[in-house]
Amino acid sequence: MIALKGEAFESCLEVLNVLTKAGYDAYIVGGAVRNTLLGLPVADFDLATSAKPEEIVQLFDKVVPTGLEHGTVTVIYFDEHFEVTTFRADQKYMNFRHPSGVSYLGSIEGDLARRDFTINSMALSKEGELIDLYGGEKDLELKLIRTVGNPVHRFREDALRMLRAIRFLSILGFSLEKKTEEALTENAILLKHVAVERLQSEVSKLLAGKAVNSAFTQLILSRVHHYLPGLSEMTSTFNEEVDLSILETEIERWAWLSSHADNPVTFLKEWRLPNSIIKQAVRLLTISGEVQHEGWSNRTVYDAFPYAQSCERLLAVNDQREPNFTKIDQITSELVITSREKLAVTGNDLISWDQSKPGPWVGEAIREIELAVITGKIKNEKSSIRRWLKQWRTQ
Ligand code: ATP
Ligand code: MG
Repeated sequence: MIALKGEAFESCLEVLNVLTKAGYDAYIVGGAVRNTLLGLPVADFDLATSAKPEEIVQLFDKVVPTGLEHGTVTVIYFDEHFEVTTFRADQKYMNFRHPSGVSYLGSIEGDLARRDFTINSMALSKEGELIDLYGGEKDLELKLIRTVGNPVHRFREDALRMLRAIRFLSILGFSLEKKTEEALTENAILLKHVAVERLQSEVSKLLAGKAVNSAFTQLILSRVHHYLPGLSEMTSTFNEEVDLSILETEIERWAWLSSHADNPVTFLKEWRLPNSIIKQAVRLLTISGEVQHEGWSNRTVYDAFPYAQSCERLLAVNDQREPNFTKIDQITSELVITSREKLAVTGNDLISWDQSKPGPWVGEAIREIELAVITGKIKNEKSSIRRWLKQWRTQ
């Protein structure tokens, strides 16, 4: 019996109770079981049940049909989200990507057979009983990532599983079981059939793993990098010595990865990342580049605000050193303003003082005023700014 104690399990056990009281079977599956057995914190719960989506909807107040075509709904229970999937078997796979359909099953056994790796194919009942049909617990001990069933078949069904294998290698610090690794190397080319969005979400997680360096080494060794946007040249640029654990956010990690590309914007667009991430990642890279030449100054800290620490972490990774926030903290505490909005004047003030037409000069003038204020040349007061501006415009 596995003890399901602690706050994290409270709501989850209640959701399982609602399902079992209504006469259905229900289990915790996937990453939550794996992490519980490893003694790691559980971030989100995937549940599997004999209840069909329309039956789940009847049992809970808030249910979002997040993946109805696969029999998945999200139950929102006291603000917590649970992905609940009906026991299912996947029908014949098409195009190395997805099943042509799913059929619902009455019991958990068949559902575990369709799962990717042994360590991901265990189920836990609410009483703490472990169902482990494929030796998942043993593989957790051996620190091995092994497919459920023949790896060649499983990778040919859904090529994304190859990248998932390396993602779990990265997160857990495990190795690939020999046959799984061989099949991966042989079939890496099939990844070209997988939608970039699916690759992206696995790479985001891979980048955050504690064994990310081994993961990149494995990506190259298995030639998977050839089928990932913009990474085919990685063999020549990847430095195994860098410590990516210094990076703290998803944006920092994508910024680091894109810094190896000739054009980071094109690279990030190829990965179909949201514009907000692209914009922010490029900003971090631009400012890091400036800091590399000029060091941290009022200007660079101000332009980076509030992400100067992110830039410093990127620089630390590149220079293979620890990040040092002393200068950033000191400058930040002394900055007169932290954004354009905090200036004592607006563009409209400038236009009315000058009786001039709006135009590009307003943006230029505001930028000059910002620089003068943050470097202490003028006070952040309307009168000083107005005087200084008059002089600046006649220059
Ligand atoms: P995490 O902790 O990152 O959520 P996870 O193992 O829960 O890891 P998910 O992507 O949430 O991973 O998937 C949940 C479970 O669904 C997996 O553990 C696995 O059993 C199954 N699964 C997910 N994707 C696939 C796939 N492509 N092929 C087969 N099984 C899959
Ligand atoms: Mg999960």
